[in-house]
Amino acid sequence: MKKKSAIITGSTSGIGLSIARHLAKAGCNIMLNGFGDRDEIDSLQKELSEKNQVKALYSDADMTVPEQINTMVQTAAESFGGVDILVNNAGIQHVAPIEEFPAEKWNAIIAINLSAAFHTIRTALPHMKKKKWGRIINIASAHALAASPFKSAYVATKHGILGLTKVVALETAQEGITCNAICPGYVKTPLVEGQISDQAKARGISEESVVQDVILEAQPTKKFVELDEIGALTLFLIGDYAASITGTAISIDGGWTAK
Ligand code: NAD
Repeated sequence: MKKKSAIITGSTSGIGLSIARHLAKAGCNIMLNGFGDRDEIDSLQKELSEKNQVKALYSDADMTVPEQINTMVQTAAESFGGVDILVNNAGIQHVAPIEEFPAEKWNAIIAINLSAAFHTIRTALPHMKKKKWGRIINIASAHALAASPFKSAYVATKHGILGLTKVVALETAQEGITCNAICPGYVKTPLVEGQISDQAKARGISEESVVQDVILEAQPTKKFVELDEIGALTLFLIGDYAASITGTAISIDGGWTAK
């Protein structure tokens, strides 16, 4: 992966950060993105670049703003001499019954979890096509394949991004570019930690019951998926042996969607 360049949206935390660490370790230049404390992001950039001898840039582009998304992709392309790998990972969640679901939450989830990927892909693709090589990985979810109550916007966007994945795979199939969706089950990140109290409220149960009877109940392994497992799967998908894997949904969910 030496000399390849990657953009990972939402990489200041959780799954995106794990993917950024794996890609940098493999020798990729990295464009970090997401919100967070500026000093912590500065030290993350420094750590990734010094430890791995790669360039690590940061864009504070808000994934709800198409112009900022385009600028982030163009900046990466100019600074790195191209964009080889794009990981659409930024995502948010809101848990509420549909009649109580705030319209502004619906709009934000559609923008960040789905429309942002449309904007990154359309801006990054010309750079990949130029080199006849590219890897697009959309971090979807088990919720791209199955639904849960109280997550109308999230489930809609995750099903949507799987459709987008398939279309992009077909349109790029002869260009040396692949586009796949990774569909994780529950991973212990701030996104999941933040929804435990909302789930408790929506279901009228305790937070402990949410973890045991809702979250881990979904996964036959009764374990959270590990961050490193998703980083390692991403590395496989960008490698040469994955050249024929395109347009697919790869589950990493402890057996959730086998049920
Ligand atoms: P997280 O909350 O730890 O990280 C989310 C990242 O997205 C952060 O870096 C945050 O700053 C960034 N972000 C949020 N809004 C943004 C915006 N408007 N513009 C730019 N960046 C923004 O969450 P996570 O659990 O690591 O989730 C990452 C992805 O994985 C999401 O797409 C999520 O749906 C998906 N996913 C998570 C789980 C899980 O159990 N954690 C399971 C399946 C899928």
